[in-house]
Amino acid sequence: MSRAADARLLLERIAAAYAPATLSSSLGAEDMVLTDMVAREGLPIEVFTLDTGRLHAETLELIGRVQAHYGLALRVVQPEPQAVVQYVTVHGRNAFYGSVEMRKRCCAIRKVEPLKRALEGKRAWITGLRREQSAARAGLRVAAFDTDLHIAKFNPLADWSGNDVWDYIRKNGVPTNPLHDRGYPSIGCEPCTRAVEPGADERSGRWWWEEEAKKECGLHVAAENRGQSPNAGFGAVGSAVALQNDLGFSGRMNLPAGKAETMEGQNRGVARAGEGA
Ligand code: SF4
Repeated sequence: MSRAADARLLLERIAAAYAPATLSSSLGAEDMVLTDMVAREGLPIEVFTLDTGRLHAETLELIGRVQAHYGLALRVVQPEPQAVVQYVTVHGRNAFYGSVEMRKRCCAIRKVEPLKRALEGKRAWITGLRREQSAARAGLRVAAFDTDLHIAKFNPLADWSGNDVWDYIRKNGVPTNPLHDRGYPSIGCEPCTRAVEPGADERSGRWWWEEEAKKECGLHVAAENRGQSPNAGFGAVGSAVALQNDLGFSGRMNLPAGKAETMEGQNRGVARAGEGA
């Protein structure tokens, strides 16, 4: 089976076993692949995007194009206006350049809180994350349980390469952000994203003024890193074993080729993350 067929199958199973499921889209290339699959197959998976108030005009324009192209009601989630006004009034609109703390506070207001609202009432959160995107994502799993947000999290493209993504886009005429053609492999807020040289780490254009280790916005803190203890979350409703059972797999996590993970391996991974926290 091709990687695209694998990902489609996984989405179908998530939609069936984890309704209501939602796909968070930054409108980047990977998220457009998943949006295309959801729309083409008519899967009952909501697609939402976070309009932080600091996005590029090209990204905002793509929202309308996606809705028109697929006839899809893309949900747009925005930050709480009062929290934004308070941050800007007290610290300044671009205070995030001043310190990691100020940057994280801005991300918390414009991204993390709206994300939590968007996930309320959902049983599964689907993302377009890939292992290749950065060193921080090298250990990404296809399925995990976010013990902080208490939701099953799926990354159907975890083992895709950049070429896989762009092959799919070309073959299927998927709409994309024109910034990709101008050197932006990863697109976030305008003041915090810049173009990178060909071959550079795909996330190196994000918060480029910070040290590599501090560069995540809080949306995708690895599920296992959110837990208070190595096995936190494994007693919760959406434990890794439950993920396996709900998706109709047995023994090994019979995910598509290259995505198989033993439950034993998942537990070991959690223990490692807990030790290092
Ligand atoms: S990426 Fe930059 S502008 Fe966007 S929320 Fe984070 S700090 Fe704020």
